[in-house]
Amino acid sequence: MFELPPLPYAYDALEPYIDAKTMEIHYTKHHAGYVAKLNDALAGFPALAQASAGKPELQSLANLLKNLNGVPESIRTAVRNNGGGHFNHSLFWELMKPKGGGKPAEELSSAITATFGSFEKFQEEFSKAAAGVFGSGWAWLGMSNSEGLKIIQTSNQENPISNGFKPVLCLDVWEHAHYLKYQNRRPDYITAWWNVVNWEQANANFIGDELVKA
Ligand code: MN
Repeated sequence: MFELPPLPYAYDALEPYIDAKTMEIHYTKHHAGYVAKLNDALAGFPALAQASAGKPELQSLANLLKNLNGVPESIRTAVRNNGGGHFNHSLFWELMKPKGGGKPAEELSSAITATFGSFEKFQEEFSKAAAGVFGSGWAWLGMSNSEGLKIIQTSNQENPISNGFKPVLCLDVWEHAHYLKYQNRRPDYITAWWNVVNWEQANANFIGDELVKA
């Protein structure tokens, strides 16, 4: 059974950019809800759970999301939505930290500059993509061997891993991620979010291959 991972900081640790109440509800209600519903969906399918036995949680989840066509049709939508929700939020919490922000370093910095021209240009394009997600969804920086680094929008809890991209950076733009503090001002939330990005984690995602080779 999948489990809610510990939040790597206190609810108020990302203030003033992300408020404590939003963090608490987002983690204890939304993320926890995805985990519970994923487990409910998988409860009648021990073979699916068994296939991932012994693997770290995120690898098991990545395997499910990469092979959604192999998931029985009766639970495919539930796994896409709730497995995606669990996976996406698990990545998202780790990609933020108090006193984050600034610019990426090391491998990711070079790759971003080579792909987008400059960090500022990347930031502008990512922000635009995040602001432009219609309805609920996410903005991503993904990486694939054939297409390199790419900014991607997904709907609901879909994840670029289902389309062959390794997630490097992600931003939740569902209203539940910002409405208490920013109401309808999603662009203000995006601007604030850059101050809490954990670039060390993004770089680790970029150079790591656990999620793609799983
Ligand atoms: Mn969310």
